[in-house]
Formats: sequence, structure tokens, C-alpha cells
Amino acid sequence: MTVSAVHRRSLPLLTTEQIGALKPELADVIEYRKSGLSLNHVIGCPLECGYCVRHLFDNFEMKTPKRLMTDEAAVEALVSHPYFRPHRTPIQLFNRATDPMLPVVKPHLFAVLQQLDDRGLTNHILVITRWRVDAEDCAVLNSFQNLRITVLVTHSGIEDPAIEPVNSAHAADSLRMLYEHAERYRTILYWRPIVPGLNDSDEHIERARELSLHAHATVFTGLFFRDEIKDYYEGHGLPVPYDDTARRKIMPEQAEQRILAAFDAAQQPGAAPWGTLFRKTSCGVAYAHGEADYNGHYGVRELCDICPREQVARCAGAWVKPDPDEVVRAARALGAIGDVEINDRAIVVEGLDEPPRYYLQHGFGYQCHDRAKPHLYRQHGRAPIGWEAENGPYPA
Ligand code: SF4
Repeated sequence: MTVSAVHRRSLPLLTTEQIGALKPELADVIEYRKSGLSLNHVIGCPLECGYCVRHLFDNFEMKTPKRLMTDEAAVEALVSHPYFRPHRTPIQLFNRATDPMLPVVKPHLFAVLQQLDDRGLTNHILVITRWRVDAEDCAVLNSFQNLRITVLVTHSGIEDPAIEPVNSAHAADSLRMLYEHAERYRTILYWRPIVPGLNDSDEHIERARELSLHAHATVFTGLFFRDEIKDYYEGHGLPVPYDDTARRKIMPEQAEQRILAAFDAAQQPGAAPWGTLFRKTSCGVAYAHGEADYNGHYGVRELCDICPREQVARCAGAWVKPDPDEVVRAARALGAIGDVEINDRAIVVEGLDEPPRYYLQHGFGYQCHDRAKPHLYRQHGRAPIGWEAENGPYPA
């Protein structure tokens, strides 16, 4: 199956001068994120989601997608990146500065997938969209022979068009379409960003429950709320959800508990069923493919209390405390200073920023944390906003 002729026109390439005017982080097409090495050589998006991370790159005003380089050059840059491991490193495509399923972006998504697949690579590929997916797209996604592809469909249920201009019905339709046609790929309901009072009513939760039955897994998560995004909300008269901003996503305890209470209630005999629910993206992706979590979240055991029993067994079987000498060697080679500790949850390092930590994490299948940014009990990887003080450090 090939991309239809109508979608074949290539996006224009930015000139060297135009690229030079971008924020350096945006001009750098590869970024290592927790869910994978992320390739972003197409930037620009017309969808205008109020909470978009493009605010952080001063790119929100660029409504027409453009390319920073050819697809061939981008794939070459990805596979020759020092942190890329064939068959192992999870990859994300176009998840930072555009939507990969926009009609003008999609041919580039499929071209990149084809080139990676032609190399015989079996890496996980995460594609996140809120846009329309049709039966022809599903056929293309099913046609790749080697890659483990997951399409995550963002659905917030937020009704305020100033925050969420794209009708959530598009995402709901795309999810159903993807699920119905899935053969070689998997699809996830990406239920986010959840904001208390905005989209966590009983009706919103019930809507997510219904949709969760049309996905191989459901991942729920909160809002990424940085200063730049707060400024945009304030400047546009949008209701500001939190007084403070944070480095990590904000998912208040109360909102999580409301969702988990509904999920628990559905486990009772005769209750309307839920699909499988996860707090972490990689957990949902791994489960959808019948594999153990590639981020080693099993070490943070309180995350696993909502996970299906067979998946807990799978992760337990795959989760092995790594050899200390090997970890120290790998961490030092990346520039770690101070003690390199391996406890029952994570490798703990000093002096490494996120990319090398994720490289260690994905290499060992074991969490890797920064000593300077400790993770708190029950708040794994989340901002402290909306959590009570008693949820402090891990019990000894
Ligand atoms: S068992 Fe734990 S680590 Fe594994 S997928 Fe489930 S929640 Fe994630």
C-alpha cells in the first residue's frame, strides 16, 4: 500500500537563514525524551491547541508546516545519532512541533517509516496525533513489516475551543478507525491533558471509558504547564488552571483518584467495562505489543497497581537489577560524576542531563534518576502541585 497521489507533494524546505533564526532547540531535529528518541524535521502546525509545547520554542505562530531537511537526511541523522541503538531505542516521530497525521505532514511520516522499515529495524515507533485517520492510512500503517508502530490518539474532551480548537470527535473517530483496522500496529487512547474542573467530570470519565474499549491500551496523564504556556493562557484570557508552573506534568492526586475510583468500580461484576489503563506512556505501548515496559517502571512498584496481572508478570520477568560495574562504566563514559547508585527502584546518577539518563534507562531497562531531582512516593515523574505533603520520600 502506498500513500495516495494527492498526498505526495513535499513540504517546502526552510532556508539556512530561516533555520538560523529558529531557537537552537527547535533547529536540532533530534531530541531524546523519556518515551524515545524523537525526530522532528517538520515544524509548524495550524491546530492551535492552547497548551501546545511549541510555545516553549517560540514557534506557535508558525501555522504552515515546513521541513528543516529532507526525509532521507533526517532518517540518516536518526540512525547515526550516538544514542540510537538498532532494534532497542524507542523512536517518536513528529511529536514536538506538528501533528504527523495532517494531510501535508503524513507523506513525510510514511516516507520516514518506510525508510526505517526498509532497514529491517524493529524499534518501537510512537506516533501521536489528534487529527483524522482514514482506512487508507491504516492500510499504510499495517504494511510495514519490521517496525513496532503505536499510534497514540490524543483525546482530552476539553470543550473550550480557545484551549482545544480541534473537536475531540475527530480523535474519537480516528481511534475507532485505527482500532478496527489494526493488524500490525497498535493504537492507544492518549487521554490528556487532564485538568481538574475542566475535563474530569463524571461525563468526561464515562466518555473516556467508552473510548478505552476501542484501543489496545489507555494512558491518562496531566498538563505540561510551563511559564511560556501560562503566559499564553493569561495573554489570551484563558482560565489559568494552576497558579504555579512546573518542570514535570501536573496531575493532581484528586483527579487521579476520581479516575481510578471509576476504573475500580468497573471491575465489579455487571459494571460497564473499561479497557486497560496505565499511568505511563511506555507502559501502555509495551502492553499493547505484549512486552515488558522498556522504561523499567516496574521498579516504581506503586505504578503497577492498576496493571493487568499478566502484564505485571511480564514486567517482573524482564526487570533485572543491572550489573553495577557495567552501569558505572556506562555512566562514567557519558560523564557522570559522584556516586553511581543502583537501588531497588532506579540507577541514581549525578551530572547527567536527560538524554544520557534516558540512554542508560532504555539500555538497561531500568529507571535512571538524577540525584538532584528526587522522585517522590506515588508522584513518579509528576510535579508536586496537587499532592499533599504526606506523599513525601519513599518509605525506608
Ligand atoms: S507492570 Fe508496572 S511497569 Fe509493567 S507495564 Fe504495568 S505498570 Fe508498567
